[in-house]
Amino acid sequence: MGFIRILIIIIVIFLLWQLYFRIKRQGEKARPQLKQQPSIPMLRCQHCGTHIPENEAIKSPKGVYCCEQHRREAEFN
Ligand SMILES: [Zn+2]
Repeated sequence: MGFIRILIIIIVIFLLWQLYFRIKRQGEKARPQLKQQPSIPMLRCQHCGTHIPENEAIKSPKGVYCCEQHRREAEFN
């Protein structure tokens, strides 16, 4: 019976060890995603002052805007 107990303990340790590495890997995958989000430059709409990510901003030679409507309102008035 002693041998079976040792075997069960070894299996439990092995499973916990695998679980630990799975959690560790998931944590490493989640971290770079969190780092990438703040690295997107935030630009300020010249019309209403709202901060928008650079990839969503409407850019024109006169300035940066949050939407096409604000670009038109700011440039044609
Ligand atoms: Zn705006």
